[in-house]
Amino acid sequence: MNKINMITPLVEMDGDEMTRILWQIIKDKLILPYVNLKTEYYDLGLKMRDKTDDQITIDSANATLEYGVAVKCATITPNEQRLNEYNLKKMWKSPNATIRAILDGTVFRAPIMVKGIKPNVNTWQQPIVIARHAYGDVYKGVEIKVENPGTAKLVISGKDKNKEEVIFEFTSSGIVQATYNTDESIASFAHSCFKYALSEKQDLWFSTKDTISKKYDHNFKDIFQDIYDKFYKNSFESAGIEYFYTLIDDAVARVIRSKGGFIWALKNYDGDVMSDMVATAFGSLAMMTSILVSPKGVFEYEAAHGTVTRHYYRHLEGEETSTNPVATIFAWTGALKKRGELDNIPELISFAQKLEKASIDTIEQGFMTKDLIPLFEGEATALTSNQFIDKIAQNLNNLIEQKN
Ligand code: NAP
Ligand code: MG
Repeated sequence: MNKINMITPLVEMDGDEMTRILWQIIKDKLILPYVNLKTEYYDLGLKMRDKTDDQITIDSANATLEYGVAVKCATITPNEQRLNEYNLKKMWKSPNATIRAILDGTVFRAPIMVKGIKPNVNTWQQPIVIARHAYGDVYKGVEIKVENPGTAKLVISGKDKNKEEVIFEFTSSGIVQATYNTDESIASFAHSCFKYALSEKQDLWFSTKDTISKKYDHNFKDIFQDIYDKFYKNSFESAGIEYFYTLIDDAVARVIRSKGGFIWALKNYDGDVMSDMVATAFGSLAMMTSILVSPKGVFEYEAAHGTVTRHYYRHLEGEETSTNPVATIFAWTGALKKRGELDNIPELISFAQKLEKASIDTIEQGFMTKDLIPLFEGEATALTSNQFIDKIAQNLNNLIEQKN
């Protein structure tokens, strides 16, 4: 079989610990035998970030802006304990935060569904992808604990001077909070959501509490609608997909009754809470991918989980671990598919689809890593990561030979 050639390189961001080990195995056994892989390699492992004063992370994000598609391995976000463990020069920022600051994107979390692992909500037949706005609101809120009677006010100075509202006349102790967002950030969130919906050909839902929050949440609703009407309405219509705004209460009720198969955009706090609920209801963090979509039109694919540290320590002691590689495999297939789409390489898209199918088939045949065993209905065999990836490789070979 001829290996598939690529045109534009993928930006490859290597990472840490157990996922770094899986990264290499996935490349060696599932990708390199079939694809003349072209990547711009950036080692975002903590050692290299420390050595380069984190310049490598910035370089990898800039390369993503240049080339358009990146695939990222999970990375350690340093804390006090890592500072000592890796003897770091300083406590470097989260690479994901650095990358997001440069690409200015929105993160979409998408579950990988497999027959035999049923979502807790039994009507869900298709994935529900959560898009969370990750800027401002209560995460940057300012709060005051009021001890005594007094007046709380919102005051805007500057060119808008004299804008002032009384929040509350306190007659006793209480609390007050102010939050903000910017039109620019909301607009870039909206663009990312519309772009991702088009790229996935799925409906987009957006919900806020605009009936109560008539200026704040309403502003989100208006900006989304404006941008939709101006830039995306036609493309949505020709793609046969829908943009749909509804009140968050209504959205929650509809989501639970739905069959899935859409993207749900949410404000920062709503997205934080709802993504944990939806992810848990779909089964496992190890089966969840995460896609950063930038309004600049670039994409970064990764697994939603971390570096699986506890497994890595066991791996260092010589144990063969049973760490689930599926989300990391899907980060690769997502990136390869997108590269294939942008460069018009149908064989690359088809290869990535087969690798996804081979991974899902393997689990559906009853072979999986330990984490999935308690979730699986039916007879299941627990394999090590290596054995599991070998099974996927067999299934992949079969799928590829069938066609040739
Ligand atoms: P984690 O790596 O996601 O692991 C938490 C636990 O979830 C694991 O100990 C494991 O449970 C289970 N798990 C997660 N992924 C799994 C997989 N693929 N297969 C099997 N089990 C899996 O989160 P963490 O322990 O909080 O963080 C570890 C490191 O990852 C930290 O340094 C953190 O900074 C980093 N992190 C990075 C990212 C990212 O790069 N996107 C995201 C989150 C965290 P058992 O041990 O019970 O088997
Ligand atoms: Mg949360």
